[in-house]
Amino acid sequence: MASDIPARCQLCDSPMPAGGAQCSTCGKVYGEQNRCPSCHAIAAVSEHGPGDYVCAACSAPRVRTRSTPVDSDFADALARKATRDRVLSYVFLPVGALSSLVGLGLGSAALAWLEGGFRSAGLVVGSIALGIGVLGLWVAGRALRSARALGERVRDARLMLHAGRSQDGVTAGDAARLLRLDEAAADAALTELAKKGQLDLAVDDVGTVRYRVFDAELEEQAEEVSAAQLRQR
Ligand SMILES: [Zn+2]
Ligand SMILES: [Zn+2]
Repeated sequence: MASDIPARCQLCDSPMPAGGAQCSTCGKVYGEQNRCPSCHAIAAVSEHGPGDYVCAACSAPRVRTRSTPVDSDFADALARKATRDRVLSYVFLPVGALSSLVGLGLGSAALAWLEGGFRSAGLVVGSIALGIGVLGLWVAGRALRSARALGERVRDARLMLHAGRSQDGVTAGDAARLLRLDEAAADAALTELAKKGQLDLAVDDVGTVRYRVFDAELEEQAEEVSAAQLRQR
């Protein structure tokens, strides 16, 4: 591993994947070898077409080596984690529910019909089954919440990807079609990203709202130009 890649992500403190240059939790990229020659940011690349890569930060053409992180890979990795958690919840939900019911049934049956040692044994087995059931339901609930949260992050990562693929950005309608969301949901998610400052919002000539990847570098240049123009007056 290159020495300029930390052991833990400096942004979110998650352990970095062995040999990887991109944090698998927040997507931050490390390593001088991933510095863009155009914008000088250390950033992943986006794939515009087959084998055609551009900088994920500034959209200038970039060369991709085997170790260069691709930002769609990050979204795909998050999506795989979300699927894994969803499957986990689907497995543990019925197991937890069934085991809880069996435990309750056994306990009540032991109280109603059994006596002495048999009653105690029935109650013990029932309690164990109920305990396993409650634990199963807890695991299922946790996995489901995690899958939902990951699902939102996948959606946001893909929205950013699509917004960054074109200089003009995307409309809520485009995003809804590309991500198979309903338009209101796509619009709400894009608005949220714009509020967080991750996307730039612009209204075109016909009044359509377009969301673009916020380009701090370009903004800065524009500000410098307008400041210089002001000074000249
Ligand atoms: Zn991180
Ligand atoms: Zn760049």
